[in-house]
Amino acid sequence: MSKNAVENGLVVSMEYTLTVDGEVLDSSTDAGPLQFLVGFDNIVPGLEREMVGMEIGESKDVLVLPEDGYGEFDADAFMEVPRSEFPADMELEVGLELNVSDEDGQRQLAFVESFNDESVRLDFNHPLAGAELQFSVKVVALREPTPEELDHGHVHDDDHHH
Ligand code: ZN
Repeated sequence: MSKNAVENGLVVSMEYTLTVDGEVLDSSTDAGPLQFLVGFDNIVPGLEREMVGMEIGESKDVLVLPEDGYGEFDADAFMEVPRSEFPADMELEVGLELNVSDEDGQRQLAFVESFNDESVRLDFNHPLAGAELQFSVKVVALREPTPEELDHGHVHDDDHHH
């Protein structure tokens, strides 16, 4: 039996627009509908929660506050790292996204906030930390995941093999 409402364990195809402070930051207009597996932290929790139960063809506007989105901005989430810890030939630029390991070997996303010859200041806040996210979404299709997708907890498509 085919499902016609969003629930955990299904793959949703959705059209979406993300607006922050009146500016459209992201949308499916160019790339086409986004697919995601529900219930595996693939999208921000505040949006996923509101989408559960939506039917195919249904549209919704959802305002996601920071605590249900990319978190509150943390003024302490910065770190100075000696420039010498980066490869000498590495082209640094403000806003550059880096995958860094902490003392415990945990991989973390960081962004270059500023740098000079001696040191690099990293920002561990998500670029949208503290932002209120205004989503407009429309459910365009639903399907069962493949066993492999369910096992991995995310959607596979032609462009992404993990
Ligand atoms: Zn995978």
